[in-house]
Amino acid sequence: MHEEKSAGLFRASAEYIPGGVNSPVRAYRSVNRIPRFIDKARGSKIYDVDGNEYIDYVCSWGPAIMGHAHESVLKAVHDAVENGLSFGAPTEKELKLARLVNGIMPHIESLRLVNSGTEAVMSAIRLARGYTGKNRIIKFRGCYHGHSDAMLVKAGSGGITTGVPDSIGVPAAVVADTMIAEYNDIGSVERLFEAAGNEIAAVIVEPVAANMGVVPPAPGFLQALRDITSRNGTLLIFDEVITGFRIALGGASERYGVIPDLVTLGKIIGGGMPIGAYGGRREIMEMVSPSGKVYQAGTLAGNPVATAAGIATLSWLRDNRDIYEELEENGAKIEEALKKRFGDSASVNRTGSLLSVFFTSGKVTDYDGATSSDTERFSRFFSYMLDNGVYLAPSQYEAWFISAAHSGEDIDKTCRLIEDYQEN
Ligand SMILES: *Cc1c(COP(=O)(O)O)cnc(C)c1O
Repeated sequence: MHEEKSAGLFRASAEYIPGGVNSPVRAYRSVNRIPRFIDKARGSKIYDVDGNEYIDYVCSWGPAIMGHAHESVLKAVHDAVENGLSFGAPTEKELKLARLVNGIMPHIESLRLVNSGTEAVMSAIRLARGYTGKNRIIKFRGCYHGHSDAMLVKAGSGGITTGVPDSIGVPAAVVADTMIAEYNDIGSVERLFEAAGNEIAAVIVEPVAANMGVVPPAPGFLQALRDITSRNGTLLIFDEVITGFRIALGGASERYGVIPDLVTLGKIIGGGMPIGAYGGRREIMEMVSPSGKVYQAGTLAGNPVATAAGIATLSWLRDNRDIYEELEENGAKIEEALKKRFGDSASVNRTGSLLSVFFTSGKVTDYDGATSSDTERFSRFFSYMLDNGVYLAPSQYEAWFISAAHSGEDIDKTCRLIEDYQEN
């Protein structure tokens, strides 16, 4: 498999862009390979500049749930572009997108659009603090909520892989109010509430953790978070940047029946364009400027191109709900192939079309379990799949994403490759 052009571009990029990439995991450092420079993608396939074709299980880290370059999304974007890229003024498209989200997730009564998941979380935290008049936040070890200062503690994926879980440049004072609990361990949350219950503004959680590899919530865990936050006048924030419109159309609330106070969204909601959103109960959202005193703004927020892509994506998903069953079935096939191939020497976690194989024995239910994985074994498996035309996320601690465009043939080919893998 040729990789000369990617290698050349990577070398040249490193002179002008830190590490040659605009987001760290893309650099393939933890798998010791040269990152693929991408030329184009369509449906379930992605193509690099050397002309190689891959079945893509990164899907732009989630957004491409309909497959790449879906006709209806491209048309919506083309139509929007014709009329100008950004006005810095309200448009009907923003109303349409907010109504669409409300129709799918009725607990999102009011919604503010921003430009990324990071911004959505940062703003939701500020709002939770403003609304409750409290300062402390609980997050879980291994959950990633974007790179804003207060959330950059024990934050999973990129951080775990590079061995720098925290960043320099984040003052201790800024994270002093961020308390860390253990995912799937309600006792660890109870202890923090016993210590500081009346100071805690919010508990933020990935309802299915997907940034330390995929770790589903234990039965009752999300409901227990709902109960303890309600009892203490603390807001519950579901960070559904990955899980929203992914693990069910209505995300974690539909799948698990637990309703948070605030939700953060990103990835799928923009159908591949840069976007994020936060929303929830109207009474809380009314605190956001200009109706309330929690300031938050964005020059390009709600721009017509990103909103057009979001509307096209969410309305297609709403009108094609049966894809979620198909995603579930395809996820199960890959899960089975991995279990068959690796047996007890690995642990496979899956929620719908999100899955991970951890190269560790024993069930992975938390951060310690996830990080007990043998990342060298992962690297070798990753390389084998890449060299055989399957594009996986280049880290043990990232999820596989399946899209509606993955055909039976794609899934079968992937399963055969897994089953034929010779580990040495
Ligand atoms: C990707 C992600 C974010 C950050 O979103 P960006 O658009 O990359 O800023 C936040 N939370 C979760 C759960 C994510 O997976």
